[in-house]
Amino acid sequence: MDFQCVHSLKQDTIMAKTFYINTLGCKVNQYESDNLSCILENAGLKRVSDKEKADVVVVNTCTVTHKASTQSRQALRQAIKAHQGALVLATGCYAQSEPEALKGIKGVSFVVDNTQRHLIPRIIEKESPRKTAESLTGEIRSFQEFLTPDIPVPGARSRPFLKIQDGCNAFCTYCIVPYTRGPSRSMPWASAIGHVTSLISQGFGEVVLTGIHLGYYGQDLEPKTDLVSLLAELDTRLDKGRIRLSSIEPKEVSQGLLDLMARSERLCPHLHLPLQSGDTGILQRMNRPYTAEYFSDLVHDVRRALPEAGIGVDVLVGFPGETDETFRNTLTLIERLPVSYLHVFPYSQREGTPAAKYPNQVAPDVLAKRTKVLRELGGLKRLAFHAGTMGKTLEVCVEGRKDEKTGLHKGVARNYVPVLFSAPFPPVRSSLVRVKVEKLTPKGRVTGSLA
Ligand code: SF4
Repeated sequence: MDFQCVHSLKQDTIMAKTFYINTLGCKVNQYESDNLSCILENAGLKRVSDKEKADVVVVNTCTVTHKASTQSRQALRQAIKAHQGALVLATGCYAQSEPEALKGIKGVSFVVDNTQRHLIPRIIEKESPRKTAESLTGEIRSFQEFLTPDIPVPGARSRPFLKIQDGCNAFCTYCIVPYTRGPSRSMPWASAIGHVTSLISQGFGEVVLTGIHLGYYGQDLEPKTDLVSLLAELDTRLDKGRIRLSSIEPKEVSQGLLDLMARSERLCPHLHLPLQSGDTGILQRMNRPYTAEYFSDLVHDVRRALPEAGIGVDVLVGFPGETDETFRNTLTLIERLPVSYLHVFPYSQREGTPAAKYPNQVAPDVLAKRTKVLRELGGLKRLAFHAGTMGKTLEVCVEGRKDEKTGLHKGVARNYVPVLFSAPFPPVRSSLVRVKVEKLTPKGRVTGSLA
């Protein structure tokens, strides 16, 4: 398909240039990089996978943790070193929260925050490398725009992301995101439907709906709508393919969503739920709107409604004031819950958030120990869940490349279990195939063969 992106540039104006995009952080950032790449390629630029060969380097930064900020600065320095004459631009959430920090890196020509990112193609078209960086910044707290490409941008993924929501109004006390992404806003209903149906009709077996706070979808639209209504509409319209939610807040998992997931062939039975802490006192100080008991009941409800669903849980370890006892509450809660995997993040003090000033910040060695304990528990949960797929036949979305170690084809099941499989012929990338699960590798990876 010949893509024509919104904000497209005049063909041939920048024909000779090559570009490289380095993306850090979340699925939303990845989607936005894909979108930029599409605009640039449409204007005649050539994307290269080697930054040494790029005339233009864009680093799409992240600042969700201290480590992410460090990695973003490193990525910029590496790009500058790799190609001295390149036009280097920094954008993304770190560019939003601390543009001056990035402007100060010698060799960066432009720092473009999230409110101004639509200007990047024009900058690349018109500008040359600068000795002193210029920053293009705006006010994110009142930013209401949701830039929607004219047609969907699948990027290079076998299961494309589609950003249908941006921003967050929740202000959890540890989180920098509302300050870097602004208030919640949604892709218009018709565009969301059009983009999903178009991607599926192009042959993508799965589309992953992403956002910063997906459960807010539609609250800002006129007329107001919601995520479950959108999913129900997609369920009615699609006659093939499947949709996955990237994550959803515990309070936004309604009975309506569970019922739809249980009956729909189009909606993957997979919920990725941010728990953050299993201690109600800590949750309150995080400004999370639920208790540990509520979360526990929710997971049991999900398991009852969707016996085979993948249930992933985010945990934030070492929030200020987390004691051995409150950490144990988290550990005990998760041990008892029928979840499939954990994503464990050590707490990172983000300047500008309320929690950065809270007393009793947890010492780094304690943080590391607790993170390790929870990650080990996550490994056991994953193993048990994978073992439960034995002998079953799973619908798998095919990835483009083979697993290097085993030489088997790779794919992802409806419940988010990664599957390795043999096939008598190379399966079509992004298609849905059926795989009979035969065994687990010693490391707990699920393997099987085409059914
Ligand atoms: S819900 Fe909380 S953790 Fe998630 S993006 Fe919003 S403020 Fe951050």
